[in-house]
Amino acid sequence: MTLTTFDDIGRVLREHQHFAILSHVRPDGDALGSQLALALSLQQLGKDVRVWNEDGMLEKYSFLPRAELLTKPPATADNVDVAIALDTAIQNRLGTAFGAIGSAKIWINIDHHPSNPGYGDMVIVDPSAPATGEIIFRLIKSQGLPFNHDIAENLYAAISTDTGSFQYPNTSARTFEIAAELVRAGGLNIGQLSQLLYESYPRRRLELLRELLRTMRFTEHDRVASFTLSLKTAADLGVLPEDNEGLIDHLRAIRSVIVAVFFEELKDGKVRVSMRSKNEAFDVCAICQKFGGGGHTLAAGARIRGSLAEVEEKFLEEIREVVKRGS
Ligand code: AMP
Ligand code: MN
Ligand code: MN
Repeated sequence: MTLTTFDDIGRVLREHQHFAILSHVRPDGDALGSQLALALSLQQLGKDVRVWNEDGMLEKYSFLPRAELLTKPPATADNVDVAIALDTAIQNRLGTAFGAIGSAKIWINIDHHPSNPGYGDMVIVDPSAPATGEIIFRLIKSQGLPFNHDIAENLYAAISTDTGSFQYPNTSARTFEIAAELVRAGGLNIGQLSQLLYESYPRRRLELLRELLRTMRFTEHDRVASFTLSLKTAADLGVLPEDNEGLIDHLRAIRSVIVAVFFEELKDGKVRVSMRSKNEAFDVCAICQKFGGGGHTLAAGARIRGSLAEVEEKFLEEIREVVKRGS
């Protein structure tokens, strides 16, 4: 692997015809928005583009322009010239989308997770970018690739959601400059878009929050807060996996809390752990990496085999050690 530049990627995009654009399982706004934005730009260049995610398009992001382009991968593998993984820290987080690529001459990996090991033939991993959408914007602009309203709206959704509405620490002046250009050049209606992004939740999401708050636990003098979701509660409420995205922020928003944790029982005998930190000294990515996961210093996750109670115990013990060392 050699150092990849935007020019290298621009050349590969122009020189090939058949593309597949993939992102991680349990996608977020950054994954889906980045995929659609790059796909639309390549389509305008006259390219043939597949846009696949294991989970398909989520209901809550189905308002994104041209959302219908994003589908679940087909059961039988397909051959492409170039496969592009976006926003995906480790290759196996591509899930079934990875298996749907029979062969690809070139694998491109574009991401902003510091834990990304740099899989693939061409790699751009920029941890200073608060969203993969920001890297896609810079790629499109630097290479003079097609850009229009639909691309702008997808990129704005990617950046707005992954920065927690322009609040997380790696939100920079550059992020605001890019957002300004998306609004100006894309002719975006921010009021309408924000309502679609942040004020269009189904009622069951708040009913879920009510149940999560009942399980809320504080340890380490209220510096660590956690809550849990069992399969039974999820079934009783009829919630979708996507309904819990962002609910952990309620724990992080408590003044005393430094580390917030969400434990979600999964159907495959594993527990999904989602972590947030408010302090660079408490690197939740390092903790998750110990359990085979990854992410960013202040937001990370892992999937661990075991019962909800076992994983909760093991994790809180590990966090206790780290918090003690830091205090
Ligand atoms: P989440 O808590 O699911 O919103 O994820 C927080 C961050 O951690 C995201 O940037 C994810 O890409 C990353 N992440 C979550 N789960 C995993 C995992 N199992 N392995 C590697 N990275 C993960
Ligand atoms: Mn993501
Ligand atoms: Mn991201």
